[in-house]
Amino acid sequence: MTQYVSVDPARPDPEVIACAARIIREGGLVAFPTETVYGLGANAFDPAAVAGVFRAKGRPSDNPLIVHIAGTDDLEIAARAVPEKARKLGASFWPGPLTMVLVASPGVPRVTSGGLATVAVRVPAHPVATALIRASGTPVAAPSANRSGRPSPTNARHVLEDLDGRIDMILDGGPCTVGVESSVIDLTGDPPVLLRPGGLSRSSIEAVIGDIRTLEQAPEAANRSPGTRYRHYAPKARVILAGPGEVAREVARHLSDGRRVGVMAVHPVPGGRAGLSVRMMSADPAGYARELFAALREMDDLNCEVIVAETVDERGLGSAVMDRLRRASQGDSAGPSQGS
Ligand code: AMP
Ligand code: MG
Repeated sequence: MTQYVSVDPARPDPEVIACAARIIREGGLVAFPTETVYGLGANAFDPAAVAGVFRAKGRPSDNPLIVHIAGTDDLEIAARAVPEKARKLGASFWPGPLTMVLVASPGVPRVTSGGLATVAVRVPAHPVATALIRASGTPVAAPSANRSGRPSPTNARHVLEDLDGRIDMILDGGPCTVGVESSVIDLTGDPPVLLRPGGLSRSSIEAVIGDIRTLEQAPEAANRSPGTRYRHYAPKARVILAGPGEVAREVARHLSDGRRVGVMAVHPVPGGRAGLSVRMMSADPAGYARELFAALREMDDLNCEVIVAETVDERGLGSAVMDRLRRASQGDSAGPSQGS
């Protein structure tokens, strides 16, 4: 049985938090809101509990979890040899949507770090997350609270859809404000490498610690980031990426093939056609990011067979949006114009 409890996102009821924290301490699993997406939390130092997270999600065991702490003071519980650049980033962006990969403390269980000598650490900004971690009295390992491979959950209903009956509790604190996962930066080498673009932009990071590299610039770092190998964020429908000038043509092409088509459009698309569902997306990348995963799930609920997703500029959060869309599409983008 999964307990489902609503909480005030700004001022969560201490009794509810105490109950959730007890579940964590006793080795159970609690889904909770963060500012990025909903997380599925377990005591990061309890190998059996962490194994339960992998089981509930169907997550490959070599894809490590992010360890969430309540504040920078707790950093040394999870990580050691913390470099100056990490301290600067923590001082500037924690709590917030930034995860740092550091050398792991000896006590971090192998199951939590996916067998690596490093650990990913974050201080989330959501009051419910912070309260839960504090009350648990232990760092909380938490990947996104979805079945592995599915779009990440940005509200509690998404968590229920994927994990009802498989976890102990869901804390419903309303929709997530950022909507895409944290940016993950590896600080075990210099220059640091951005392993995953996310809720904090590359330029914000570089403003504090100078030049960093991306995975394209440092492909060898991909070996250190197992998550980059896996299929992710995928709705049931096939996802096709289309630039602003390509959306209408792609929609027409798939409709004429008799498919049910959903379109995630920034610019208006003529609606009212049989088999077509139009979902308008924010033109600003932060808004698109917030709406992205819910839109992918909505398209599945409408039984779309094809989703045509309009692409956005890779500036600011646009880079995280495009990363998620590319993974969801597995490389399917609008084909060359057929002249028709
Ligand atoms: P999720 O929790 O589903 O948002 O995924 C966490 C992301 O962080 C995945 O892409 C992981 O591969 C990555 N990650 C977690 N721990 C490490 C680590 N020690 N080194 C590199 N990447 C990590
Ligand atoms: Mg995930």
